[in-house]
Amino acid sequence: MTKTLTALGMAHLSGDGKTEGSLQHHGPAGKALAFRQFILKINSRCNLACRYCYMYQMADQSWRTQPINMTHATLDRIARRIGDHARIHDLAEIEVILHGGEPLLAGPELIGYAVKAIRRAADVGTRIHIAVQTNAILLDQNFLDLFEELEVRVGVSLDGYQAANDRHRVFASGRSSHPQVVAALNRLARGRHHRLFSGILCTVDIRNDPVATYEALIEFDPPAIDLLLPHGNWSRPPPFRDPESTATPYADWLIAVFDRWYDSPRTETEIRFFTEIIRLLMGHPSRTEAIGLSPARMVVVETDGSIEQSDILKSAYQGAAATARHVAEDSFESVLHHPGFIARQRGSLELAARCRACDIHTICGGGLYAHRYSDVNGFANPSVYCLDLYRLISHIHQRVARDVAKARSAR
Ligand code: SF4
Repeated sequence: MTKTLTALGMAHLSGDGKTEGSLQHHGPAGKALAFRQFILKINSRCNLACRYCYMYQMADQSWRTQPINMTHATLDRIARRIGDHARIHDLAEIEVILHGGEPLLAGPELIGYAVKAIRRAADVGTRIHIAVQTNAILLDQNFLDLFEELEVRVGVSLDGYQAANDRHRVFASGRSSHPQVVAALNRLARGRHHRLFSGILCTVDIRNDPVATYEALIEFDPPAIDLLLPHGNWSRPPPFRDPESTATPYADWLIAVFDRWYDSPRTETEIRFFTEIIRLLMGHPSRTEAIGLSPARMVVVETDGSIEQSDILKSAYQGAAATARHVAEDSFESVLHHPGFIARQRGSLELAARCRACDIHTICGGGLYAHRYSDVNGFANPSVYCLDLYRLISHIHQRVARDVAKARSAR
């Protein structure tokens, strides 16, 4: 893995493994940064009934009042708003994610309409990357041909080998989704469509074997894997994360995957959570809200056109992601100054006192914002995964620092 380290640069690690100086925070204090990622909930329902889903199974139940599909009129407004935002802020590139529910339930006509409307309206010299995040149940040859034509990249959710995936990712009847997802992944990953493949999203369940989970995912040669911690907070803790306990079951699981991935003689894939931690240790800003202090630059548009914050906040309480703005009346500029977005662009200023005093807070960043929530004092807390994050980051730091020192002494 030293090739990866060299590519990332070694400037911020000293030979003894200590982090030099403070790591860069990209949010200029007091100035709202433009959105760069737009998540469009083009459909609000799902053909699976995943047992951990933050949208249907957790605190916020607002999906019940959403229309099933976005309308063409809403898509036209969104496209115009995105184009305006890109123009006003002179954005070199943006990313649009077609999301749900299950976005493929919106059907090929609506998806095609959405992609063309966005590309047309945002054709202002901005590079537009469009991707769809799907459970892959409907990902057949027709959809793949459409995505080829539209240049839409495809991310698939899968939790590993069959028994691992079947713990949560099932149909409402309880039937396994694994065979269908594997068939779709084979269509996507094993032939000419691989170039569309953006990666696999895997939610961690610590009862699953970590190395077997990783190895089941790399069977499909994904360019990247996102390992997602199950959502929860201090008032509604994630499974097996007892807030009173000093055990670190999630760090234990993730370290087993990290060591398997890091020790591989060849780079099998990118695991974004780990790569971002290494990038932070090297002095680069993180590119995800899951770790680090980089300002969040993502906005969500609900199926009815409501503008919202990260939908992961829905795991905290009813209405946590809402902004009371709508694309029919409001621009994306108008929500940049919403307190929820400002809070997630303030970096260390927004951290709890305990995090600010923590020696790895520039790397950890207090964890994912939604995981800090408590009914008692809102988001002014460390992550509910604090102990796991501390142990995982320390482990990665030690391993990387050792290799950096070795590489330097070999020069
Ligand atoms: S490890 Fe814990 S205390 Fe330190 S920054 Fe992360 S959440 Fe905060």
